[in-house]
Amino acid sequence: MDLPKHAYFHGRIVPYSEAKVGVATHALNYGTAVFSGIRGYWNKEQKQLFVFRPMDHFRRFLNSCRMICIDFNFTPEDLTKLTLELLRADDYQQDIYIRPLAYKSDELIGVRLHDLTDELTIFAMPMEKYAKHETDASVTISSWRRVDDNIIPARGKISGAYINSALAKTDAARGGYDEALVLNQDGHLAEGSAMNIFIVRDGVLLTPPVTENILEGITRRTVMELAKKELGLTVVERPIDRSEIYVCDELILTGTAAEVMAVTQVDHRPVGCGQMGPVAAGLRDLYAGVVRGEHPCYCHWNIPVY
Ligand code: PMP
Repeated sequence: MDLPKHAYFHGRIVPYSEAKVGVATHALNYGTAVFSGIRGYWNKEQKQLFVFRPMDHFRRFLNSCRMICIDFNFTPEDLTKLTLELLRADDYQQDIYIRPLAYKSDELIGVRLHDLTDELTIFAMPMEKYAKHETDASVTISSWRRVDDNIIPARGKISGAYINSALAKTDAARGGYDEALVLNQDGHLAEGSAMNIFIVRDGVLLTPPVTENILEGITRRTVMELAKKELGLTVVERPIDRSEIYVCDELILTGTAAEVMAVTQVDHRPVGCGQMGPVAAGLRDLYAGVVRGEHPCYCHWNIPVY
């Protein structure tokens, strides 16, 4: 992966090599940070870089900040503007991934959230595909459970909580799978390591509600809207049992990085007929056009950089 060119750091846009923190930094030691992951898509015809739904990402980012007592005066509009300034300095003409990070920057010992200094950094780097097998992924049900709302809120994109995702992901990868599905404390499906989950049963698109210890995904919301409006599907949010995976017709994972992934095997069992189904294929097609600003009905989600 290429390194970022610049970073927004201590209130300025600086060369990435100057955006450094000390080893005693609170967030590095205790995971006291929150982040976001936003994609920018290059549209060749229009010679334009479109950032996808930055306002929605920054609304969630600021909510995550509130959960760990980071009180910024920034609005989602301010953060979008800063991001666009950074991207103009970077001058990318390719697909990119943007990482805003809010963190406790004090260099001291002491576990807490209060009486600490909050900093914001944003950087962006080129990113093409995240997932190797986007149309035929194989997954395993992880032995790790999803963090619970009363342990570390999964609704927040909290840096320390990503150890939970990393444990699940690494065990799955070392077991030869592309991805892990993680159950919550009730044994219901929560999500993947960094993506939300959907299943198709009898033509209905099902996904766990936001009270099932999931991240409230922007791609999840996008896919729900596209499924209803463009594919005419019924979309239902309800808890999903583990065994429903074995009887569903399709299994789909969604996320900013992973985009829309079709899962065709779970723990060596075929999902549905063992091949990508029509809902996954339809959603993948739609999503690919929408994020690149090719769908006039949804171009309010595409914020141009240049
Ligand atoms: N769940 C988790 C745990 C994630 O890290 C992500 C990636 N941000 C998602 C779901 C998908 O969220 P989004 O669609 O907003 O990227």
